[in-house]
Formats: sequence, C-alpha cells, structure tokens
Amino acid sequence: MKYFIGNWKMFGVPKSIDIIKKVTTYKKRDKFNKKYKIVFTPPFTLIESFSNFFKKNPSVSIGAQNCYHKDLFSSDTGAISSFMIKLVGAKYVIIGHSDNRSEGDTDSVVKQKISHALKNNLKVIFCIGENKRDKIKKRTKIVLKKQILNSLNNKTNLNNIIVAYEPIWSIGTGLVPKNFELNETITFIKKILKKVNKKKLPPVLYGGSVDGNSVKSFKKIKIIDGFLIGGASKSSKNFIDIIKNYYR
Ligand code: PEP
Repeated sequence: MKYFIGNWKMFGVPKSIDIIKKVTTYKKRDKFNKKYKIVFTPPFTLIESFSNFFKKNPSVSIGAQNCYHKDLFSSDTGAISSFMIKLVGAKYVIIGHSDNRSEGDTDSVVKQKISHALKNNLKVIFCIGENKRDKIKKRTKIVLKKQILNSLNNKTNLNNIIVAYEPIWSIGTGLVPKNFELNETITFIKKILKKVNKKKLPPVLYGGSVDGNSVKSFKKIKIIDGFLIGGASKSSKNFIDIIKNYYR
C-alpha cells in the first residue's frame, strides 16, 4: 500500500474542500485506486467540517498537522490535544515536522506527542530529516538514527506509525536527493526501525519538493512507501499529477 499525504500547512479556507473533492473523484475512477491511500491534513479550523463531509467516503482520510504534547485538556493557551482532534474526526496526525522542530519540538516532546496520539487511536505520521549542514557534514545517518531511537521504542505501537523522511533542505526548495542517496537513506531508516521492533516495519515515506515531475524519478525507488506532499497538495491538479505519474 502506498500513501499520498497532503500537508496544507497554514493554507486552506472552507471552500478549499473542493480540492479534496476533485482528488477523491479522480481516485474513485482510477484503476489503480486499491493500491494507495490518500490523506489530507488541513489546518485545525477545517478538520471537523472536512471529516464530517468525507466520513463515508473511503477515498480519503483527514488528519491534523500537529498536536500538543499533553493529553486531554490543559491550561496552555492556543494548544490543541490529540484527544481534541480525534474527537472532531481526524484519523491521522503529523508529528515532528521540521517546522515544529524548529520552533522547539525536541525529540522528547515529539515522543510525548506520539504517545498521546497513539493513546487516542490516531495514526501518526512521524517526520524525521537532516538539515543542510548535517548533510554536508555527512551526519545524515547519525541524525536520523537519533531522531528515531529518541522517539520510538519497542513498546510503541508501530501498527499506527508511518515514518516520513523529509530532508529539511529539500522542503519547499525544489532540491531533491539523488536516487542513490534516497535509496540508501530509506534502506538505513528501515534498518533502524527493525532494531526498534523486528516484527513490525512501518511504512517509510519521502517528503520534500515532491511534484508531478520529481515523482517520475522517485517511483523507481520501490522501497519508498509513499509521499508527504506540501506545496503540490494545495492544487488538485498538481496532487493528481503526482498519482498519475507514479502509476503511469
Ligand atoms: C512539507 O512541508 O512537509 C513538504 C514536504 O513540503 P514541500 O512538498 O512543499 O517540499
């Protein structure tokens, strides 16, 4: 099963539901539709209405882009817990995105968020990735290993984890890793995940400047289990082009 997950970031208004409607119409008619799952993560403000709208539509699931590291309720202004997003219909949640890591989400905070999200029966899209400096200094594997082992352990329910490898230098820049590098890195991530739990290997996605063009090259790397898509997920055409070109 492959995943195509759209992360809208701080974009999206109620009318943007039309983007997802067009994508689901495409999926319904696509002869490859049993081979993949589609998830969209709009801003918090749209989760409830979108989840209700697509409740009975098997072509798409709705998720959140983040959640708080404490459970249920707390006196933290502006915070939203995984309990709250689950209650309004979210099925997935992105945790550890570099946007949030750069604002202070340490591995330990990421670990707490994952634990609460799993407790609330959300599927976690767990983001990891090295920055440009780490890449230049050839520290990618050290960084990824640390991010994985500091946030997952053999008690984590890996059935509800999806790992997204997102090199920070690739997000929104148009720069992408070379195929041999990506193949090597995803293989490495899977090796580390096997150390966490040899019985259950979660899917490992790639994210970073994925579009209808770059996906033509990524599709040659069969060990990639799908994509986390930022910029190109804000247009139904661009999102559908990714799926089309992947299966073409
Ligand atoms: C992202 O924000 O997770 C992302 C991958 O963005 P983009 O596809 O725009 O690089």
